[in-house]
Amino acid sequence: MSTSCGTGPGPYDLGGRRARLLVVDDEPVFVRLIHQLFSAEHEVFMATSSEQALDICAHSAPDLILLDVVMPGMDGLELCRRLKQLPQAQAIPVIFVTARESLDEETACWAAGGVDFVNKPFNPLTLRNRVNVHLALKFQADRLREMAFVDGLTGIANRRQFEERLELEFRRSRRNGSALALLMIDVDFFKPYNDRYGHQAGDECLRRVASLLKASMSRPGDLAARYGGEEFVFLLPETNEAGARVIAQRLVDAVRQLNLEHLDSAVAAVVTISIGAAVLGPDSSESCRALVTLADAQLYRAKKQGRGRVCCALTPADHDAAAQT
Ligand code: GH3
Ligand code: MG
Ligand code: MG
Repeated sequence: MSTSCGTGPGPYDLGGRRARLLVVDDEPVFVRLIHQLFSAEHEVFMATSSEQALDICAHSAPDLILLDVVMPGMDGLELCRRLKQLPQAQAIPVIFVTARESLDEETACWAAGGVDFVNKPFNPLTLRNRVNVHLALKFQADRLREMAFVDGLTGIANRRQFEERLELEFRRSRRNGSALALLMIDVDFFKPYNDRYGHQAGDECLRRVASLLKASMSRPGDLAARYGGEEFVFLLPETNEAGARVIAQRLVDAVRQLNLEHLDSAVAAVVTISIGAAVLGPDSSESCRALVTLADAQLYRAKKQGRGRVCCALTPADHDAAAQT
């Protein structure tokens, strides 16, 4: 079998973008062949068993997997089924490489979750084009997913991502019996800022505040997101009232220290934020909607009390529980 398949762009040009390709096959000769075929175009990772492949996917997901069906130990079909159940590996396209032509085996490949298959021996050009078309689709899907969950102006999480994470962290906190804190953040006198400095400067100000929030995420579960307009949210799992107050005050101070001139603010000569913080205690029976409503109410209080500050509260049910003990 020749490994030459030309160096032209082919019908599926990836614009020079290199992909991470994982080849899983117990035959070293085949793995070497794939390496020769693709290493100029893509980054090729190799595994000679399903167990090794699972390990690689758990640490850093490849963009596409070329998978042998018949292997000692866990076979390719079982590996594919397992990958489709892992959230971090679900979206990785799997192309099966089958040793013989068998209709049953083809059916099994589709049933296991493969996106395509090629039979050995294969035409290198066909394999290359199949790989590249699935990579092109994968990159498009990645891009769409990113657009759906990332705010276009600031590059941080958008409201949709926040809503999903809120639900997830809410359920996790109820299961683990841990507190969950939410900060609702609003830029003070932002309308006058736009009026004085212009919309573009306003946009730049939002980007500066957003990147500060993003840089302040210190734990894996923390999430800073743009909620809409000049409002942001900060989700803090496993954080109690004292913790939420400290983090919120730190953010208020850090935004002041950005020193972005704002001569039409009644708070200071620089851009400031107000924060409403709400905390759902470990035993609270309130919903996650109640958490959002309470954070909003605390933000309103912070605005009424003069802005540039933090107001914080526990969900009402926790107050009742605290009063009874
Ligand atoms: P407060 O201190 O009470 O929060 O007053 P404020 O002026 O910040 O609040 P208001 O809700 O009256 O004004 C928010 C402004 O935010 C109005 C709107 O034009 C501006 N804004 C919303 N989204 C964007 C955006 O994406 N870019 C820019 N530059 N401005 C935005
Ligand atoms: Mg607002
Ligand atoms: Mg505002």
